[in-house]
Amino acid sequence: MDGGDSPTGDEADGPTAPGDARAEEQIAEHGASSSPDVAGVADAAAGGARSGGSGKRVLLAAPRGYCAGVDRAVIAVEKALEHYGAPVYVRKEIVHNKHVVATLSERGAVFVDETDQVPEGATVIFSAHGVSPAVHESAAQRQLKTIDATCPLVTKVHKEAVRFAKDDYDILLVGHEGHEEVEGTAGEAPQHVQLVDGPESVDAVTVRDPEKVIWLSQTTLSVDETMQTVERLRERFPTLQDPPSDDICYATQNRQVAVKKIAPSCDLLVVVGSANSSNSVRLVEVGLQHGAAASYRVDHKGEMDESWLDGVSTVGVTSGASVPEILVTDLLAWLAERGYGDVEEVRTASEDLLFSLPRELRADLKATSAAKH
Ligand code: SF4
Repeated sequence: MDGGDSPTGDEADGPTAPGDARAEEQIAEHGASSSPDVAGVADAAAGGARSGGSGKRVLLAAPRGYCAGVDRAVIAVEKALEHYGAPVYVRKEIVHNKHVVATLSERGAVFVDETDQVPEGATVIFSAHGVSPAVHESAAQRQLKTIDATCPLVTKVHKEAVRFAKDDYDILLVGHEGHEEVEGTAGEAPQHVQLVDGPESVDAVTVRDPEKVIWLSQTTLSVDETMQTVERLRERFPTLQDPPSDDICYATQNRQVAVKKIAPSCDLLVVVGSANSSNSVRLVEVGLQHGAAASYRVDHKGEMDESWLDGVSTVGVTSGASVPEILVTDLLAWLAERGYGDVEEVRTASEDLLFSLPRELRADLKATSAAKH
């Protein structure tokens, strides 16, 4: 992670907590500034057919790696450790990446599954994936000090769920069963939300009034598969309403667009990311669907298998939204040692979105800073 690109305590002074005016403005700006710009791409991948076994090269997808929500959540834990001292408790993995969790654990973060594992009165950070109101209540009962690192783009979906539940809609939440984000969003309106886990789940959906149904989604899904699910839903419920804005976030979409661009040229596509990272797993699927001859997900270069390179000329490389760039750099070095030192970055969008630190943390940092002056 490049600290220079990250929201600092100073930048975090503005009113940017989820749901406030500036946060929403940032989201809107982001939508305009980071939408894929395929026309402007240096067309490195458009050589079309894979090279036939002579020149070895790497096509490096961009954007890749850390998104704004992950960057914010990881920095929140780092700043909390600096400010409050270890241990700082974190409910669930702060982001779905083994390396990040291991690194923060070494620095004093203690990862727990539930708030009842946190000593009364201690500080607990909620992960980027978000939590349901029941988790907030449980933390309050235990008098925990909470720092909510839920990504503002997840919070946006929570707010949509609350709003449509208030208007008595049936909400069809497209997402993966058991994923923490889905549990958090569904927990906002459990009486109104029904999970739809892919097109094959559509037939089992039942609603009270087919005229009053809306779909929302998890932020890290495959765009194409989600639209297939929505089409099936719309066949059953023709007046199905769309979300007010895209729920699949900019980072998920941008990483998929970049993979679609390089996949047709790849004999092998390597996605760096952890097994429980939804957006990383989706990148493997998207790569295979769009022409990569083979694709594997690895947590780090140590999981690479030499045999994957047999007969391979072009290796595509990308990483999920929770993956620090150092893991990609290490993989590129590993590939270079095997003759794949020619690396060409293929960029399909630029990203400049930053989120301010969680409100509770900003307030404490500011108070300490003021006391010193
Ligand atoms: S993947 Fe998207 S929703 Fe998830 S933390 Fe990153 S920006 Fe937020």
